[in-house]
Amino acid sequence: MAARQEKKLSEERKHQNMQNGTKASQGQWGRAWEVDWFSLASILFLLTFAPLIVYYFIMSCAQYQCSLTAPLLDLLTGNKHLSDIWNRTPTLTYRAAGIYSLWVTFQVVLYMSFPDFCHKFLPGYVGGVQEGAVTPAGVVNKYQINGLQAWIITHVLWFANASFLHLFSPTIIFDNWIPLLWCANILGYAVSTFAMIKGYFFPTNAKDCKFTGNFFYDYMMGIEFNPRIGKWFDFKLFFNGRPGIVAWTLINLSFAAKQQELHGEVTNSMILVNVLQGIYVLDFFWNEAWYLKTIDICHDHFGWYLGWGDCVWLPYLYTLQGLYLVYHPVQLCTAHALGVLVLGLLGYYIFRATNHQKDLFRRTNGNCRIWGRRPEYIECSYTSVDGTRYHSKLMTSGFWGWARHFNYTGDLMGSLAYCLACGFEHLLPYFYITYMAILLIHRCLRDEHRCSSKYGKDWERYTAAVPYRLLPGVF
Ligand code: NDP
Repeated sequence: MAARQEKKLSEERKHQNMQNGTKASQGQWGRAWEVDWFSLASILFLLTFAPLIVYYFIMSCAQYQCSLTAPLLDLLTGNKHLSDIWNRTPTLTYRAAGIYSLWVTFQVVLYMSFPDFCHKFLPGYVGGVQEGAVTPAGVVNKYQINGLQAWIITHVLWFANASFLHLFSPTIIFDNWIPLLWCANILGYAVSTFAMIKGYFFPTNAKDCKFTGNFFYDYMMGIEFNPRIGKWFDFKLFFNGRPGIVAWTLINLSFAAKQQELHGEVTNSMILVNVLQGIYVLDFFWNEAWYLKTIDICHDHFGWYLGWGDCVWLPYLYTLQGLYLVYHPVQLCTAHALGVLVLGLLGYYIFRATNHQKDLFRRTNGNCRIWGRRPEYIECSYTSVDGTRYHSKLMTSGFWGWARHFNYTGDLMGSLAYCLACGFEHLLPYFYITYMAILLIHRCLRDEHRCSSKYGKDWERYTAAVPYRLLPGVF
């Protein structure tokens, strides 16, 4: 009896591994072991230009009313020199440094000192201590999932301040936007550099480190898989969710407050951007435990890409629509506003429902109902590096029968809705959809390359059954 139970347990563990795609993908896990010239060139390009791209966007709003072409034209025609633009750029201030330090410290305190309480009274919410996927070295990390709680506390305090405490103006973020950019950069570079040094000298788990021998690649894509300080401070979970994503909705609120201050009203486009992006952010925190199973946590290592990206790229470039609307208060006609709302909500529904279908399918090993019917799937198998054979399933019904990454399609529809809310006068608000399209298409190809190496012929059967990646009949 005991032996049978032990066998069952071991089968379950095997199955768990299988679901997480652990052992077999070791060779393909996360970033590469060897760096090809194209990856290296892309990395050098990003390391050099990504900070300049962020600066260019924010500067063009502050100095050129969000025109992306005007600064270039000014420079090319000799009307302005780089030094003229730079001299008009606000510098780092003690005030911004104080605000930023307080903000990050507050988020660290919320993350570390307040175990989750929300799961005790919110039905259906998964919070508190949760396990992540098995790492290639076979480690199962525990995470304190309390992002929703941190988000709620932060926003309650924000509204309390705006309504009756009046300790600071709700426009504080907009008013210090460029000085805060310098602070975010300092933190982004500091944390990425620290992660690199930590990977070499005191990694949390040496067996989960990857060294390619290429300094730039290692710096950008990270060495450690799950760097931690102590038992609970997880770099990936903290930096991705907070301060970046908690800040996202606060930044939008600050932009709305600035619009009110400057123009005497908050336009319907600003409300739409706040509401649609607010839903996306809340969804992220409501599903923070699910996020532990996504590519960011399961496959990517922690380097500049995640560290600097979460501190600078995300809060500054994902919020461009709100910033744009401060300079260009667009009041949409009812049909346009309704169109944006419907597209945004539909995109969100597809994004959430597709992710939910896969999650349910994998959690129940296919013993569930998708759209009222038993799910269809392809049985597949893969072999781990030690030669053990594992079995898994790839769903071919529900949204996963429409396309292989219909969750990305929903995400892209939502992203397009934020941009369309800003009207058609300028290019800048459309950066987000352009960037998301590149990010998600690249992610899709990267994931499929990994799955193809993992499942071999079975993946070919799956792609024959579901031939399109994002859009049935098109791509
Ligand atoms: P997915 O959630 O799509 O996960 C891909 C994995 O799912 C594959 O590696 C495979 O893993 C498994 N899988 C693939 N096809 C099937 C199938 N038919 N049936 C069952 N399992 C399958 O990818 P991500 O983690 O990238 O995305 C999660 C969400 O996060 C997406 O909705 C995306 O839009 C969003 N996102 C948003 C970003 C933003 O900046 N706003 C950035 C990145 C993502 P296995 O090895 O286990 O088989």
